[in-house]
Formats: sequence, structure tokens, C-alpha cells
Amino acid sequence: MVVYPHPIIRMPIVCRQCKIPKCMENCPTEAIIKKDGIVDIDGEKCISCQQCVISCPFGAIFLHEEIDTPFKCNLCNGQPQCVEACPKNALLFLPEHVLGQAQRMSSLLKYAHMKEVEYVEKGERKVRRYADIEKGKAED
Ligand code: SF4
Ligand code: SF4
Repeated sequence: MVVYPHPIIRMPIVCRQCKIPKCMENCPTEAIIKKDGIVDIDGEKCISCQQCVISCPFGAIFLHEEIDTPFKCNLCNGQPQCVEACPKNALLFLPEHVLGQAQRMSSLLKYAHMKEVEYVEKGERKVRRYADIEKGKAED
């Protein structure tokens, strides 16, 4: 879902597939389930009370005037079409267990763009790290 908070701003709002989903906690009929990291709505159990819509801190559950059940991103059941359709490959779909690795890699790359300066303070050898901006630019 894309919302238009300002005439020149387009902002995609997507479900974070929360570890502890507020929408799921507050659903009175247990219509919201989490399986394999994906939070989804079971339309059979839904009574359209809209508690989930109110509960989501990110505004990621939507109502549609022609549909009784609220709807949200369920990652297209594990094959997100937005990722496939993005013409610039700007979107990545990473399984939950790979996220940690991706974050570590990102930290590593940031570290690689740092330079260390050694100095002595009160007789103690210390190291200070600075962002190596020129190196970062060259590799971007
Ligand atoms: S709908 Fe909202 S609360 Fe529920 S999992 Fe997605 S982001 Fe979290
Ligand atoms: S609208 Fe449906 S899914 Fe949402 S809280 Fe109510 S019963 Fe649960």
C-alpha cells in the first residue's frame, strides 16, 4: 500500500512482520497467525472488528470499502511480487535467519570505511576510528 501524506511524497507502508505482533495480540478471534515469520489474516475467523487496524503501530493493516476483512502485506506467501517487479532491484527479500548475517555484513562494510588513528593519552595507547569519507565515495 502506498500512501500520499504530501502531494510530492509517496511512502510505502509495509508490515514489519513483527516478532511480537500487536495486531495478533489484540485480535479477539485469533484470526491473525504467524507462520514461518509471516503474519497473516485468516479471513474465515475474522469478524471485521478492526482491532488489528487500531493496534498496528505502523498503520500497516488497511481497510477497503469493498472488502470486509482488513488486509495487510503477507509477503505474497514468501514470494513478494514487489521485489520481483522493482525495476532497479532496490528491494531485497531476505529470510529471517539471513537478516543477522546481512546486518553483520553491513557493519563490516561500514567498518571497512573507517580509518584508525592511534594516540597516547595519559601514557595509555588509544585508537580512535574515523569514517574514511574519501574511501567511501570511491567505492560507492
Ligand atoms: S500489521 Fe503491524 S503489528 Fe501486525 S505484524 Fe505487521 S507491522 Fe506488526
Ligand atoms: S478485524 Fe479480523 S483480523 Fe482484525 S482484529 Fe478483528 S477479527 Fe482479528
